[in-house]
Amino acid sequence: MPQEIFPSSFECDCGHQSDFFENTVREMKAMSQKKKVYLADSAPEEHTIVFYRGKLVEIQCPKPSQSHETKKSPRKRTSSTKRVTTRGIPDEVKTDVEALVQHFNTTVIRNPHCLYVPRYKGKFLYLDRQDYGRQHPICRLEYTGKMEDWSFAIYKYSDERYDEEEWFFPGAEHVDGTIEGAMKAGLEAYPA
Ligand SMILES: [Zn+2]
Repeated sequence: MPQEIFPSSFECDCGHQSDFFENTVREMKAMSQKKKVYLADSAPEEHTIVFYRGKLVEIQCPKPSQSHETKKSPRKRTSSTKRVTTRGIPDEVKTDVEALVQHFNTTVIRNPHCLYVPRYKGKFLYLDRQDYGRQHPICRLEYTGKMEDWSFAIYKYSDERYDEEEWFFPGAEHVDGTIEGAMKAGLEAYPA
């Protein structure tokens, strides 16, 4: 069972620990009263903490779930059991993304309390922004196979979803398929 470690850390069954700001956790719990909310850490092996009704309900683990279902059988670590994600974003692309995001944080935003945080799901790259400890969704990029050609969708707070049809927002002109363009657009749409 995943564990909550007071005051704002969480431990997955695999042993991974995710640490957050206390404010962030408090806020996520408050937001989770009526719906499930997801909080991803920014570790290389990203875990997503799921809250519902103010409580931790699940930790989504990126590791193959050998410990979850096949607890009785001894672990086998052979290369054939390595999970291959065919539709996801390749690891080398993620490495480039991390570098781009960090570079943007330090050279464009230049405020240690405001930073973009990437997270991934399948072919999607989500760019959240952490502003003074609070993490907000900003936009979602879909990987098309090229670093200069991501499909963009802004997060709409009014609808609580990503909308790839929405182009009337401040900063939309920066969207050019690149990650930098997306981050610039996000900075104008949702000033830090
Ligand atoms: Zn885990």
